[in-house]
Amino acid sequence: MKSFACRDIGMDCKFTARDNDEAALMKKIADHARKAHNITNIDDAMMAKVKAAIKEV
Ligand SMILES: [Zn+2]
Repeated sequence: MKSFACRDIGMDCKFTARDNDEAALMKKIADHARKAHNITNIDDAMMAKVKAAIKEV
């Protein structure tokens, strides 16, 4: 299971997401980023940050 927490990329935010599949997890994160943080376009730098923050649990 892969786990992501928004606070791990420096956001003051309680959002966490989990999924077995990294692509599905990225989709959940992208949805959250758009709705909660107004991030409509996840660029390469953000993507790298997110991927670095994903933990295996
Ligand atoms: Zn967040």
